[in-house]
Amino acid sequence: MTKPAAPTPTSHSHRRRFGRAQQELVQDTYRLRAKPVEPTVCPQCSAVFQDGRWRWGAKPAGAHEEKCPACHRISDQHPAGLVTLHGDFVASHEAEIRALLRHQEEAEKREHPLNRIMAIEREGDALVVKTTDIHLPRRIGDAVRHAFHGKLDSHYDEQGYFVRVNWRRES
Ligand SMILES: [Zn+2]
Repeated sequence: MTKPAAPTPTSHSHRRRFGRAQQELVQDTYRLRAKPVEPTVCPQCSAVFQDGRWRWGAKPAGAHEEKCPACHRISDQHPAGLVTLHGDFVASHEAEIRALLRHQEEAEKREHPLNRIMAIEREGDALVVKTTDIHLPRRIGDAVRHAFHGKLDSHYDEQGYFVRVNWRRES
C-alpha cells in the first residue's frame, strides 16, 4: 500500500507567498492608478473628476472619458469592504434591512461618489453587502446597530485597504 506523498513545506509556503503578493498587486492597482486628466467623466456612472476629486455634476465641455475607481471595482467584482449580517432576525426583517442599506448608500454616495454598494447577496442565512470603499461598511454597520441593536464588530486589514464588518442579531 502506497501512501500519498505529503505536500512539502516548501511548496506550501510558496503558495502562500504567491497569494499574498497577488493580493497586494491587486490592491495597488486601485490605490496607485494615476490621477485622471482634468476634467474627466466616467462613461459608466457619469461622475466627473475635477479639482482633484470625483464629484457629481454636469459633464464639462471637452471632458476626457475614463472609468472611475468605483466602476473599476464593480466591473472587476473586487469589493473594498464587506458587511455580513447574521442571525434569524435578518431573514424575518430582510425588507426593512435592505431599505436601510439602500438609504445609507444614497446618503453616502451623494457626498462621496466613489462610496457605493456593489452587491447585496444572500449567503445561507446571512446577507452580504459588498462595497466599493472602506467607509460605507462602517456607516452601514453603525446604522444597522442604531436601528436594530444587535452585536457589531469591524476588522481592517493591516494596510487599511479592506474592511470587514460583522453584525449579528438572533430573533
Ligand atoms: Zn464610474
